[in-house]
Amino acid sequence: MQLDIPFQLENFIGGQFQQPLSGQFIDNINPATGEVYGSIPSSNEKDVEQAVVAAKKAFPSWSGMRAEERFKILNKIAECIEETHDQLALAETNDNGKPLWLSKEVDIPRAAANFRFFATAGMQFASESHSNQNHSLNFTLRQPIGIVGCISPWNLPLYLFTWKIAPALAAGNCVIAKPSEVTPVSAYLLAKICKAAGLHDGVLNIIHGTGQDCGEAMVKHPSIKAISFTGSTRAGEKIASIAAPMFKKLSLELGGKNPNIIFADCNWDKMLFNTIRSSFGNQGQICLCGSRILVEASIYERFKTAFIERVKKLSIGDPLEDGSKQGAIVSKAHFDKILGCIETAKKEGGSILMGGKAFQAIGRCQNGYFIEPTVIENLGPQCITNTEEIFGPVVTLQPFHSIEEALALANATQYGLAASIWTQDITKAHQIAAQIESGIVWINCWLERDLRTPFGGIKNSGVGREGGWEAMRFFTEAKNVTIQY
Ligand code: NAD
Repeated sequence: MQLDIPFQLENFIGGQFQQPLSGQFIDNINPATGEVYGSIPSSNEKDVEQAVVAAKKAFPSWSGMRAEERFKILNKIAECIEETHDQLALAETNDNGKPLWLSKEVDIPRAAANFRFFATAGMQFASESHSNQNHSLNFTLRQPIGIVGCISPWNLPLYLFTWKIAPALAAGNCVIAKPSEVTPVSAYLLAKICKAAGLHDGVLNIIHGTGQDCGEAMVKHPSIKAISFTGSTRAGEKIASIAAPMFKKLSLELGGKNPNIIFADCNWDKMLFNTIRSSFGNQGQICLCGSRILVEASIYERFKTAFIERVKKLSIGDPLEDGSKQGAIVSKAHFDKILGCIETAKKEGGSILMGGKAFQAIGRCQNGYFIEPTVIENLGPQCITNTEEIFGPVVTLQPFHSIEEALALANATQYGLAASIWTQDITKAHQIAAQIESGIVWINCWLERDLRTPFGGIKNSGVGREGGWEAMRFFTEAKNVTIQY
């Protein structure tokens, strides 16, 4: 299957590719070169309305389809993603700036896995029944919600887009989905794939545009009954303020400021290898990255020396080259934001141990947005650098002297998405896992994912959980039926 990418992308509504009704387009920029290499529809409430009409038309047959039939189509989409793996990976890297090897190894395989996983989940999803002494039998009907909205960010474009769309479809809903306007191409290609895989017209509608004009129009539309959103805490707050008074179902996966807690008794080599990944993977632009490294004081200096030695070896450059461990930052706006955060850290008295500035790439990437992996120390837990999400290749180091102090530092932010703990002492690990304010805890590992597990954050990191049955429950309404005999 050949996936062609036109210069001007189109919306996918009712099974047709079409221009936005506004006639307006937004530049699409390759962050590794700084060049405009395409344009995307700037959609608004009129396009959303068309998508709703198409989804309403498609809903009766999609929701009424036998689970095995839905499975076949969703599984076929997974197969088509695998078949077009290389083309999708290249598109993702050109849009996002991440190294091509990363798109190939992580992003695209996971997008296929999301569809395959939820294709089978749709066949196995079951509901509860309760009988009691009053000769009553209660059973739960789990019915699709109807039309649902999925809004996703730029950091793992197809990976997170499909993580929402696949369970929504598997549960029998029709979907209106919007990828980030910063990374639209893989979503456009997914529309081509879904059409080729035989997904019925109107079941999935993909519209492009900004959060303000297109995303908000989705959230405001009364016929879109649930919103699954992944993105910043700021946008999540805005979405909740619109959707909550309309009593919509909401799943909000938001920002993080995750602690990575390292004890002296850890498996040193494994910890160091994974701490490099959790600090700088995808240029630090993964919501699960451990941006606050907390190190037991007795090994602080040893860790600092070894860590910096490793970070120095992270080659930065053209994401298309195999040797590049670090690619470009996703956009000029985000590049400026990260450099601004580094300036704030300096003003707050932080010492820059390495990095701290833009990286000048050469050749075709000379105008790209690259930042050196940056390590900062000497900042307390209350400063902006240690409390606000940066979402870039920037980590801070803080020493601790006891379990209590490690916990206090770890919990000293408004976020609560993920945490890592490195220790060989299982009692200590359990003690911390139970007390840490976080939706996800990894002990002696990082980003070890099982798609059946609940995924999401607490505090300002979000509301609700994705993954496995949690996602199937979110995308269905539970109706209790009581029958007495
Ligand atoms: P963002 O909030 O700017 O945008 C995310 C998506 O929401 C985009 O599609 C955008 O167009 C849309 N959007 C923005 N404002 C909107 C509004 N008012 N109404 C409706 N839609 C709106 O986030 P981003 O910069 O694309 O992504 C980075 C953020 O995402 C970081 O904060 C990161 O931590 C977070 N993130 C969280 C998770 C998680 O699982 N918790 C995963 C990945 C990324």
